[in-house]
Amino acid sequence: MRVVGLRGETTSTENTGSYLPNAGVPGYLPVLMYHSIGTSASREFRRWQVGPELFTDQLAALSEAGYRFTGLSDALDNPHDRTIALTFDDAFHDFSAAVPVLQAAGAGATLYVPTAHVGGKATWLADYAEADLNIMSWAELRAVADAGIEIGSHGHEHAELDVRPDDELRRDISTSRAMLIDQLGVAARSFCYPFGYHTFEVRSAVAAAGFTSGCEVGYRRHRTGTDPFAVGRLIVTADTRPEQMVELVTRGQNDMITELRRRTRTPWRAYRAARYRAARLRASRSTGSRNAGSQDLA
Ligand SMILES: [Zn+2]
Repeated sequence: MRVVGLRGETTSTENTGSYLPNAGVPGYLPVLMYHSIGTSASREFRRWQVGPELFTDQLAALSEAGYRFTGLSDALDNPHDRTIALTFDDAFHDFSAAVPVLQAAGAGATLYVPTAHVGGKATWLADYAEADLNIMSWAELRAVADAGIEIGSHGHEHAELDVRPDDELRRDISTSRAMLIDQLGVAARSFCYPFGYHTFEVRSAVAAAGFTSGCEVGYRRHRTGTDPFAVGRLIVTADTRPEQMVELVTRGQNDMITELRRRTRTPWRAYRAARYRAARLRASRSTGSRNAGSQDLA
């Protein structure tokens, strides 16, 4: 826990003389959420894919404003007004293009791996027509870990854990942690809830499995010293222009979107829970298959 300082620190950059109001707001940790860094996505998914050049420019805009980048565990361990945590969900194959950009920027980051899908395809993205997107292999993930990127867990099957029975969600979470230890020698500290969905039971299971943090989508900045198992993140998309980055990390995501998401959360979970039960019933009759639709992408 740290004492939240007074707001309103300002800085002027000597070289350019530019004035940066609110750069680094005390008491907040902005955590940025990225997915794919590349240029190969279909139209439906393109918003979630940031090209390597735009990614470079987004980081540069924040570097120029005095920010530094770390992985999430490092950022939570060492709170600082000018620290931004970078997170990447799903371990898409094209993350290899992000590694040199991160290294050039002296940036740390956390990559969240859905362990059952390593070396396979993003089958949970069927609704986005991106089920063929490749996921990194264990050898590639080992190289990522060797490059100093934090490896976190994105669950085993990339399942909607909040609507799964307790024993199932616990198995999924602990399996993912065991696989990261077996395959990479990494005792992962950070967990990323698939699709951003979590409940008290999910958070408890993540903590019991040995993780020290969990992140959701949230569309908000994380308040330093609050629950590390409900770390909110800010979405960066192909539409986020470099000149918008400082505003994003100092003010957070659009409030209207946040409010809308919050209001639809409970009925949406009830719908997904009913859908999961129906799918299980169908499976027990050996007829149906699981529908993988989702509202949020994480
Ligand atoms: Zn995901």
